[in-house]
Amino acid sequence: MLLNNALLLVLLILAVAAGWTLGRSGLRMDLAGRAQLPSQYYRGFNFLLDGEEEGAVDAFTEALAVNEETLDTHIALGSVLRKRGEVDRAIRIHQNLLKRPQLSAVQLHQSHLELARDFIAAGLYDRAEQLLVDLAAQSSEFSATAQRHLLDVYEAQRDWSAAVAIAEELIALAESEGQSAAGHGQPAQQLRGHYLCEQAENAHGFGDYKAAKSFYEQALRDQPQELRALMGLVRCALKDSDRPSAMKYFSRVMESNRRCTPEILGLLRDVCSAEPYSDVYLSSLQRYYSQQNSPLLALALAEELSRQKGNEAASLFLRSTLNQYPSASVAASLALNALESQDSQPERDVLDELIRNDHGYQCDHCGFTVKTRHWRCPGCRHWDSLHYRGGALEQLNGG
Ligand SMILES: [Zn+2]
Repeated sequence: MLLNNALLLVLLILAVAAGWTLGRSGLRMDLAGRAQLPSQYYRGFNFLLDGEEEGAVDAFTEALAVNEETLDTHIALGSVLRKRGEVDRAIRIHQNLLKRPQLSAVQLHQSHLELARDFIAAGLYDRAEQLLVDLAAQSSEFSATAQRHLLDVYEAQRDWSAAVAIAEELIALAESEGQSAAGHGQPAQQLRGHYLCEQAENAHGFGDYKAAKSFYEQALRDQPQELRALMGLVRCALKDSDRPSAMKYFSRVMESNRRCTPEILGLLRDVCSAEPYSDVYLSSLQRYYSQQNSPLLALALAEELSRQKGNEAASLFLRSTLNQYPSASVAASLALNALESQDSQPERDVLDELIRNDHGYQCDHCGFTVKTRHWRCPGCRHWDSLHYRGGALEQLNGG
């Protein structure tokens, strides 16, 4: 922090001195700023001599006149302070800019945006929202940026219906300009889908399955293969005891090309346990495995074969998969099945641990790891960036 303050001070002293020199040589300069420059400048040095670095930074900031040439310096300084967590000081700098009538409309809007960013960093969402709504309406240059920050505000407040409305505006704006809509580096269509799924899960939590189903179906408008919405629709159909619909939506989960996970397998078990015929789970697993040859599905299929037709049938199936789809966890499972005597207990424990599939999820954006699925990464706040890592042996395979 001391080093950062020292660097900041050197840059500020240079900026003020350069501005003053330019002013003396007759270049365009704010007259009021030039008149008060020396006293603020020397006051800053007094703070420095007294060892009060923060006071010195404030004094040099005041000494730096606000005009077209120095606006970027003020904004950069405010941004540095905000990133260092000194949000109050960043707010003072940006509020000071908004009082200057000599700035153009675009420059005032830029200052407006920075102040809104300060309020978001300070958790003052109501104040940020008002600034951003005004900015989105008044500035064509900063409208899309203001709307993306409004998404930050509504996400933080969990105001999902307001977030959906902004995502819709971003999508419409991008379509009118022939561009792809993005917010936080993710497609606005994807964000809209997750905001609707959040609303659906709230409705589901209150037992309003009809409303939940409606939100999930709206979420599929732009992304028909959206896994979260499809899984939600399976759960809604199960709540309605509508088995054909549950299986219809689960078929779309299978066709979505998303990697099968333990929770998706659990959902398939729920769908099939509602079916009157006992072999539906086995035939569904066989259909799923024909579409996706994952070790997780192979092991689930072998477990069901073992239950219905015995260990020999399960081992034959697993062995038949190894030639075409070599898998360390499938091979370990076969070795485990071959161990029968109690004398082999330590090996059994090791193999059992290796083929377990409870190794959780990892964010492919920031690397955050977590045991259970989250639709939003707790580390980087990206939506749907946590992906199933498979068991320990699958990870060794690069799974
Ligand atoms: Zn992340």
